[in-house]
Amino acid sequence: MRFSLSATGWIPAAIASVHDEGSGRRAVTARAADPLPGLHCRVGRSSPHRFGALDVSLRIEMMDLMHDLQRAFDTSYLFISHDLANAYYFAGKVGGRIGIMYLGKLVEIGTAEEIIRNPRHPYTKVLRWATPVMDPDAAREATMEVPMRKIDIPDPKNPPSGCRFHTRCPKAREVCTGTTPRLRSADREDSKVACFRAERDHEYWNSEPLPE
Ligand code: SF4
Repeated sequence: MRFSLSATGWIPAAIASVHDEGSGRRAVTARAADPLPGLHCRVGRSSPHRFGALDVSLRIEMMDLMHDLQRAFDTSYLFISHDLANAYYFAGKVGGRIGIMYLGKLVEIGTAEEIIRNPRHPYTKVLRWATPVMDPDAAREATMEVPMRKIDIPDPKNPPSGCRFHTRCPKAREVCTGTTPRLRSADREDSKVACFRAERDHEYWNSEPLPE
């Protein structure tokens, strides 16, 4: 723990006398990185120090600190966030991958760059649409209508049949209501998606679109 704190730029004697949010966050981050090495699970909205509640500069500072600790201790992170911009920054800077989950299922996984620049799954496209503007292309997309049939979220304890996203997916067809798509390799290396549209010969293409 003492070594972890040193790596964050803080000495133990100083921790007790500093109470601002950023300092506390550094101490918590150091604690999370100890013992090492291993896989560390970091939840972006953990309480009481909610990561998402930090302002952008502090958030970036904390993520950079976690990267420093990763290099220092040769460890790995599983970083869980509701904010795609955080995930992009965190994974993109160290060549990591992003997995997108919907109602408890992984629906797409790929490099940070692929997920942001070329999302495949309709739900990933919704998240991309909802992510604060990061470049001029995104600014154009942000002016578009929300890419969903409806915004109501289904009950996670009683998820929809077939593809869980079919009640909200603008591309849903009849087959999506009864058959569950598997996460499978897309046509890019390092990338997987759970959507029938990624399968060229799937019966999806002959199935009727769902009524509006
Ligand atoms: S399988 Fe069907 S409902 Fe599910 S994401 Fe693909 S097109 Fe939409």
